[in-house]
Amino acid sequence: MTNTEDLRNEIPPEAFIALARRGMEKISLDQCFLENCDNDDTGLLEPFKKEEYEDDKKITKEIYIRCKKCNRVFILKLETLKKVAKSTRDQNEEPLSMGVVYALDENKKNLGHIGYF
Ligand SMILES: [Zn+2]
Repeated sequence: MTNTEDLRNEIPPEAFIALARRGMEKISLDQCFLENCDNDDTGLLEPFKKEEYEDDKKITKEIYIRCKKCNRVFILKLETLKKVAKSTRDQNEEPLSMGVVYALDENKKNLGHIGYF
């Protein structure tokens, strides 16, 4: 049995969404991403399983989370790119994204791209 707190630590506290022309917006990943659920109470979100795999380009972690409000399971899929291009400091430059997070439902159907972490 995997420790819930250890799994919680694997989840970035927040992700960033790029807004056209308005910079980045922060959103919390401590929420249920399933349809018709508005749970954003960490106490009602229980991570219980992790799968991790990698290829040449990225490391992928899938954290399975049980929502105790809607009693369903969703998956946060965290992809971390292995090689991030070195950049020079330039004021106009977009922030470098190193990781992308997606939400999947229990059957691994993609619910959409959440943002960057
Ligand atoms: Zn829920």
